[in-house]
Amino acid sequence: MSKPISRATFDQVIVPCYMPPDVIPVRGEGSRLWDQHGREYIDLAGGIAVNCLGHRHPALMQALQEQAERVWHLSNVFTNEPALELAERLTELTFAEQVFYANSGAEANEAAFKLARKYAFDHAGPESGKHEIISFYGSFHGRTLFTVTVGGQAKYCQGFEPVPGGITHLPYNDISALEQAVSDKTCAVVMEPILGEGGIIPADPAFAERARQLCDEHDALLIFDEVQTGAGRTGSLYAYMEMGITPDILTSAKGLGGGFPIGAMLTTRKIAASFGFGSHGTTYGGNPLGCAVSLAVINTLDDTRLMAAVRRKSQLIQNELHALNLRHAVFSDIRGRGLLLGAQLAHHWTGQARRVLESARNQGLMLLMAGPDVIRLTPSLVIPDADIQEAMTRLDRALNDMISEGPVDS
Ligand SMILES: *Cc1c(COP(=O)(O)O)cnc(C)c1O
Repeated sequence: MSKPISRATFDQVIVPCYMPPDVIPVRGEGSRLWDQHGREYIDLAGGIAVNCLGHRHPALMQALQEQAERVWHLSNVFTNEPALELAERLTELTFAEQVFYANSGAEANEAAFKLARKYAFDHAGPESGKHEIISFYGSFHGRTLFTVTVGGQAKYCQGFEPVPGGITHLPYNDISALEQAVSDKTCAVVMEPILGEGGIIPADPAFAERARQLCDEHDALLIFDEVQTGAGRTGSLYAYMEMGITPDILTSAKGLGGGFPIGAMLTTRKIAASFGFGSHGTTYGGNPLGCAVSLAVINTLDDTRLMAAVRRKSQLIQNELHALNLRHAVFSDIRGRGLLLGAQLAHHWTGQARRVLESARNQGLMLLMAGPDVIRLTPSLVIPDADIQEAMTRLDRALNDMISEGPVDS
């Protein structure tokens, strides 16, 4: 008999760039998870905004099983029916006219940034020097060398230099900094509608509008990274739909596959033309299994009642968090949109988000952090209200435990 798999195995055989807890979930259903020992958890982490329809959603299970019976993989030497159907749906439901498929958020962004460079090259010419990408501090766009460099957290680039050039970072939501920086050398401005990893910080509407105007004035592309905000997360299919502006390129991943790895870059036909035959590609992009599942995700999310329920559940969670905070005074701010929510830890708990997560786990509750000071909640968009109530009861106990232990040096 082979020895049981446990957390100790991780330290033996997995590259140590992650730090999972001892708990190893083995089964999920809806918004609940069970670990190897049969302990049950309410899942407000949702696979980092990925499991948008929870675990084992029947429509997704059916789509995966049916496609698994037909064909798993063809590569882009051929096209396939699920990829075409999904692209038709995505272009019907958004501003976009054409879709490029990838396998992750980073790859969707890599495609977007390369396309912005190529589009400027094609239209302004190689002598124009129009290759500058403007991005924002605190933003996150993935971990390939290009995307991590565009991302606004210098620490993630440290030790990986030299990094790609022509990238400028500005303070998020700072209109005058943006006005000063955008020029005819700018090929793209890249933003998350809400900084996700950066602490759940929404873009000011005036800032996003000004970014759109400046891009138009300087023939630069506005790229929205909706990897975290997309797929219904904020209560609309994509967050841009609530903002009164339209990007030129939008990237989607995470919730797009509901747990099956898929990414997509959406854009207009005119811009897409700069990715002519042979200019970019990936073996797995548009994989039939991923596209079949994603089509089921999108068809399920294309439901105004479901989107209204997301906004209502958002309010319910925020109300509950405010009520908890009246008792415990641990949060200095509760913010976000839809089911992308953040609770900023108050001054005396600064740097202790990891402890909150641990304490919550001990009470049967999975949470996320967004930096050391923010508790992030990205539950299933169809989480039952009863599970929200139970989660808040468990969080109440977890905060009690933590407060009775007192702050510790982090
Ligand atoms: C998670 C995330 C990414 C990276 O996606 P991966 O699938 O991990 O490559 C990019 N941008 C944003 C906004 C994200 O939240």
